Amino acid sequence: MLRELGSTGIEISSLAWGMWRTTDTGQRLEDVDQLLHAVLDSGINLVDTADIYGFDGTSGFGSAEELLGQVLAGSPGLRNRIVLATKGGIRPGCPYDQSPVYLKEAIDASLRRLRIDHIDIYQIHRLDILAHPQETARVLEDGLASGRIRALGVSNHTPSQIEALAGFLDTPLTVTQPEISALRIDCFENGELDQAIGMDLTPLAWSPLGGGRLFNPQDEREIAVAGALESFARDRGVSLPVAAYSWLMAHPAGIVPIIGSQHADRIEDAALALEVEWSRGEWYEVCAAARGTPLP
Ligand code: NAP
Repeated sequence: MLRELGSTGIEISSLAWGMWRTTDTGQRLEDVDQLLHAVLDSGINLVDTADIYGFDGTSGFGSAEELLGQVLAGSPGLRNRIVLATKGGIRPGCPYDQSPVYLKEAIDASLRRLRIDHIDIYQIHRLDILAHPQETARVLEDGLASGRIRALGVSNHTPSQIEALAGFLDTPLTVTQPEISALRIDCFENGELDQAIGMDLTPLAWSPLGGGRLFNPQDEREIAVAGALESFARDRGVSLPVAAYSWLMAHPAGIVPIIGSQHADRIEDAALALEVEWSRGEWYEVCAAARGTPLP
């Protein structure tokens, strides 16, 4: 059920749970504690957060990390049961900052809010075009050398941006986190997933249900995608999310969907995705709907 992340020695589950919406839904400490236990009980050990999660446009920067830190501090032993991924580099008002001084401070601030001594996976959230990748690499390598970070990742980076950063790192990147869902398959054909396979990067799929749009498709293409997934789900007796996650997981890049739901029963249901297999015919039917044009 667990697999190694690159050659880091870190063992991760095939599904992750994300905390982007945790503060939106007004979750309190006890709720997050319960959710985190539901996540672990479902066999999921990878938890994705970010320093920006909780920011509402004016305040709340760091609040999702803060909440997770309080939960971890209140449950001894919990920290060692999860692989904790966080992100930095989006800075309100900037909007992106990977200057060496800021990035180092951002890593330290995440550690303080999370009340932990190391981050398992630190990801650059969105590229700061003004940051030279050599400087970003130096800060990340310092984080690894000091033991404050165990593994590195990026999010929302193009293949060439990943290549540029990797070229200045001594330690391989292990994670890339693009948006991937049956509603958003750009990375199937733009080289991102081919690169992930070639570089042994684990792709973490953000918004694997299109941020919930699969339940409320907006146009003809989205209606066709939701319909194709629903038809598969009905045939197999599983839920629409399970069909959507397992469709992504069938890709050879080893995509790890990040579950966004803040409901324990939906997280438990998601774990069924591990048991679902797709035939090529079934898979390509959804793929054709997702492309919106017939397959060549
Ligand atoms: P998602 O799974 O695509 O969407 C989750 C939304 O769907 C929630 O509002 C959820 O509501 C809703 N939903 C309705 N019915 C559901 C059902 N039966 N099962 C599951 N969900 C259902 O994911 P997301 O929240 O947009 O994103 C997931 C994670 O990706 C985030 O938490 C974050 O870690 C990561 N992310 C990263 C970036 C980035 O730039 N790197 C950007 C966005 C997100 P309920 O909570 O009511 O179930």
